[in-house]
Amino acid sequence: MARGKKRRGAPKREYEELDVTRLRMSIPHTEQKRGGEFQVQQTMGSNAEEGKTWICPVCVVLIEPGVVHTVAWDIHRGVQSRRHFHNHCWKLFDGILP
Ligand SMILES: [Zn+2]
Repeated sequence: MARGKKRRGAPKREYEELDVTRLRMSIPHTEQKRGGEFQVQQTMGSNAEEGKTWICPVCVVLIEPGVVHTVAWDIHRGVQSRRHFHNHCWKLFDGILP
């Protein structure tokens, strides 16, 4: 006697995850680091700056175009202090910009 549990076909979860990612990417917020207060936003870098690449100041490795990454700048130093970080590098970043 086969007692199959086959009713798991709800694709809802996938949709929710996608939604959360979009939300995370679009909402700028502030974060405290040792070096100060930073305005932080996630980006894919795909609009306006197409073809542009960035060097992550933490690991000094190129951020490939189309990769979701973190853009952050020191609120007190202004937007010109803006840097692009790998998401994991931003977490490691101690707040001191080179
Ligand atoms: Zn990095």
